[in-house]
Amino acid sequence: MRIAVIGGGIVGSLIARELTRYTADVLLFEKEPDIGWGVTKANSAIVHGGFHETPGTKRASFCVEGNMLYEGLSRELDVPFKRIGAYVVALSDDELPTLQELYEQGLQNGVPGLEMHDRETVLAREPHLNPSVIAGLWSPSVGITEPWSLAIAAVENATHNGLDLHVAEGVTSISVVDAHVKQVITEKSAYEVDAVVNAAGLFSDRVAEMVGLSEPILFPRRGEYALLDKKIGRVVSSVIFPTPDALSKGILVVPTIDGGILLGPTAEDLSAGKKEATETTRVGVHQAIEGARRLVPDLDLSLVAKTFAGLRPETPDKQFVVGRTSITGFLQAAGMRSPGLTAAPAVARYLVHDVMKQDLGLNKKGNFDPIRQGIRSVLDLMGENADALIEKDPRYGQVICQCNQVTEGEIVEAIHRGARTLDGVKFRTRAGFGRCQGGFCTDKILMILARELDLSPSSITLRGGESDLLDGVVRR
Ligand SMILES: Cc1cc2nc3c(=O)[nH]c(=O)nc-3n(C[C@H](O)[C@H](O)[C@H](O)COP(=O)(O)OP(=O)(O)OC[C@H]3O[C@@H](n4cnc5c(N)ncnc54)[C@H](O)[C@@H]3O)c2cc1C
Repeated sequence: MRIAVIGGGIVGSLIARELTRYTADVLLFEKEPDIGWGVTKANSAIVHGGFHETPGTKRASFCVEGNMLYEGLSRELDVPFKRIGAYVVALSDDELPTLQELYEQGLQNGVPGLEMHDRETVLAREPHLNPSVIAGLWSPSVGITEPWSLAIAAVENATHNGLDLHVAEGVTSISVVDAHVKQVITEKSAYEVDAVVNAAGLFSDRVAEMVGLSEPILFPRRGEYALLDKKIGRVVSSVIFPTPDALSKGILVVPTIDGGILLGPTAEDLSAGKKEATETTRVGVHQAIEGARRLVPDLDLSLVAKTFAGLRPETPDKQFVVGRTSITGFLQAAGMRSPGLTAAPAVARYLVHDVMKQDLGLNKKGNFDPIRQGIRSVLDLMGENADALIEKDPRYGQVICQCNQVTEGEIVEAIHRGARTLDGVKFRTRAGFGRCQGGFCTDKILMILARELDLSPSSITLRGGESDLLDGVVRR
């Protein structure tokens, strides 16, 4: 039995990992040179509670179940996850009915621990909030994580359990005979398969077309952000939502897992062809900042370290497309718009254990190992442990990224685990993610990559393709 998963975002990565619990041969194809570089790379990183979702929909049930799976998953895969809770705040009387609707919706969806708080309680817990706040809906199950780290960790663990990983290998077509999938054809080769899972994010409509399914066209809804450096401290300790609007959950103030504060996202519909339009705009970033300041007025904007944008894969009916199709062996986990990050563990479970296990007659492996150990961060180790590590390997005493205190030892480990580009190192170690955004460490990381991979420095790229970092030799 051979199963191909298309797409190494959070959804495809978790599906691939679930599949490696069974005796099938599992292949994962990702067109980018690394895991988690699609929608998974740029979002709010919130593990949502589920009160925003319409009761009775797949989005609601997968979101609430996915949220509950995060604790175990993050423990098994050694990925950061914190249940910090969230407030949805009403800043005027006309927003109060929406707060009440979200509360009741949350109760129907089975979201645990929801409470309505008055102004005094909200301000006592979050003193930097806009003093005009009238009330807040408190949801303690909301969490934050690092989405790309979870995708990378899931793939590392799956590979340990037998996954055949193909990065930088986009799927170009799929052959179907008598309404059964037969072959996956990539930029490099062709593979006989018994089943295919379409987890291609924004491009999942194009993959569905490869088997002749005319899925609704996915259109990108751009969300722009400004990220404040961790020097800002905890101006808020939970995720702060406004009341939602017709397009999105609104512009938020979100503590990030490594201590920064994220402002955004905006919501701007783009045409279906603009699936790579992740550039930021002056208007968008301004909107993100002003929207956030409406919730938390005294944000120190001199600490903006980075702006970026993500593209939500929107479906016309706002629903996920998950499950079987009219083509035997072709399954979908497509149109995974927000809260797709939250829902992903539940979607993976459902597709693999409730659908594919039966349809394909999959048998459990006796030796599946669910545990993966992350790269040890010297910064997080306590004194003696750090000393012991440095004694064993002095490269762990050599700090390369000053902002995030990432050592040469960690960068080398990231490369040995699959990083081939500067971004590959950055997303595995946070080197280059700090206040200077790589201004002081890019050259050093580049030279370590070249040395470890035995390549010339000029062949090291930012993120593969034509993203060259060096143009030529100035002086020998
Ligand atoms: C602005 C914004 C904010 C969000 N905030 C949240 C949030 O806070 N919480 C939450 O739960 N959700 C959030 N989401 C939604 C969440 O990010 C997505 O639902 C999730 O990341 C989708 O993951 P995915 O694996 O489906 O897609 P992707 O991460 O895009 O993965 C799909 C992969 O398929 C690859 N691919 C495409 N075509 C091919 C091909 N032909 N061959 C091989 N590979 C291919 C792509 O390169 C990509 O890596 C947000 C989204 C955005 C944009």
